[in-house]
Amino acid sequence: MSYSFKIAQVEKECVACGCCEPVCPRNAIHVLLGMIAQVETEKCIGCGKCAKTCPAAVITLVKREVVS
Ligand code: SF4
Ligand code: SF4
Repeated sequence: MSYSFKIAQVEKECVACGCCEPVCPRNAIHVLLGMIAQVETEKCIGCGKCAKTCPAAVITLVKREVVS
């Protein structure tokens, strides 16, 4: 059996502005010093709030399939 859900994915063009961090209801996206934003995939629920907030439009929601 398999099921799928969406998670946020950050493109390499991220400018590390940090705008996405405070809007995430799961505290699942973080900007580490000098790096692009990182998504904790096990926490992300695919709500899309980070993508709507990102001024550089570098967050997309991608389908993740899980086979169990
Ligand atoms: S899609 Fe929602 S839960 Fe996932 S990182 Fe973005 S704001 Fe957080
Ligand atoms: S809001 Fe967009 S550009 Fe800014 S840190 Fe988050 S992913 Fe990167």
